[in-house]
Amino acid sequence: MTHFNSQEFSRYTRHIQLGDIGVEGQRKLKSARVLIVGCGGLGAPVSLYLAAAGVGQLTLVDGDHVELSNLQRQVIFTEADIGLGKAICAQTRLKALNGHIEVNAVSERLSVDNAERLIQAADLVIDCTDNFATRYLINDVCKVHGKTWIYASVYQFSGQCALFTSEQTCFRCLFPKPPSNAPDCNSNGVLGVLPGLLGTLQATEAIKYLTGIASGVANALLLIEADTMQMQKIQLRPDEDCPCCNINFSFNPALADYQPACHTVRNEHDKYSLAAEEFNQHQRSKEVVLLDVRDKNEHDAFNLGGLHVPLNELEQRLDELPSNKKIIVYCQSGVRSTAAVQLLRQANLDAMSVNGGIAEIISQ
Ligand SMILES: [Zn+2]
Repeated sequence: MTHFNSQEFSRYTRHIQLGDIGVEGQRKLKSARVLIVGCGGLGAPVSLYLAAAGVGQLTLVDGDHVELSNLQRQVIFTEADIGLGKAICAQTRLKALNGHIEVNAVSERLSVDNAERLIQAADLVIDCTDNFATRYLINDVCKVHGKTWIYASVYQFSGQCALFTSEQTCFRCLFPKPPSNAPDCNSNGVLGVLPGLLGTLQATEAIKYLTGIASGVANALLLIEADTMQMQKIQLRPDEDCPCCNINFSFNPALADYQPACHTVRNEHDKYSLAAEEFNQHQRSKEVVLLDVRDKNEHDAFNLGGLHVPLNELEQRLDELPSNKKIIVYCQSGVRSTAAVQLLRQANLDAMSVNGGIAEIISQ
């Protein structure tokens, strides 16, 4: 049986005093293994609260590095962490918070190569990612291996949260395909505190699940609008055509695209992209024109000069662009500019995208 020393007993007193958790619940937390996929806006509160709560083993999976623009919401990081790996920085922070727990850092993206190994080794999986491809991967592997996972997502002022067990309605029943307006990983604005709110809900559900308290969002989707503070809970129904809920379903990496779009476009179109270091020398040339394809708010707040046509207006405004010069396209992170370059090249314009966008140029 799991025992506590006097330090742990003192640390977890407020849980032990709580009838629904008590010593037994705290023991369950100590012997639990939780996989946290993503150390960003959601992963920060999830991992901080689960470490503080005494979850015995946390595994953090994230292949990204800390950027300045993350600090608006990813409260686990500090200015000193900029440029460093997220999983390692978060691990250091969590170990400083609670020396009684084990924290593992995996500095890789969750992929078809590591998902089964990592998910099988966990009692509970928490989705703190920002894209549909990884959520489908978590969903499918959890379904096959009988694991429960907790989903959350944030967009501007809206958030949603659900708990999926392997016996009931799955994420693919809810979203058979990614919504056509699903934003890419970096181009959407979000209220900084919103992932904090949703991540705290995920951590709440995680502690309840691990200690045996019934979930409030199993088989249900909780929707939150932070602007009006309206909350709504929708009961989920299984989709009879869901391939994942079919009894014969087995996980086959070849059958689905589990690679997030925002991480594939950059690689596919490298021949039409420009490293941020090369940007300055091109910027000085009279033979090129710069084009910002971000939204008006972003352009007004800060820009590098040149023309401004938001990506969603580009197709209608192609005649505003010069056909006798090279067009260097930039956005915040390089995702929208890559899409813009595809469009411009189809229109026979000579265009290149700046890899990593403004974020990368500023960090040079
Ligand atoms: Zn399903």
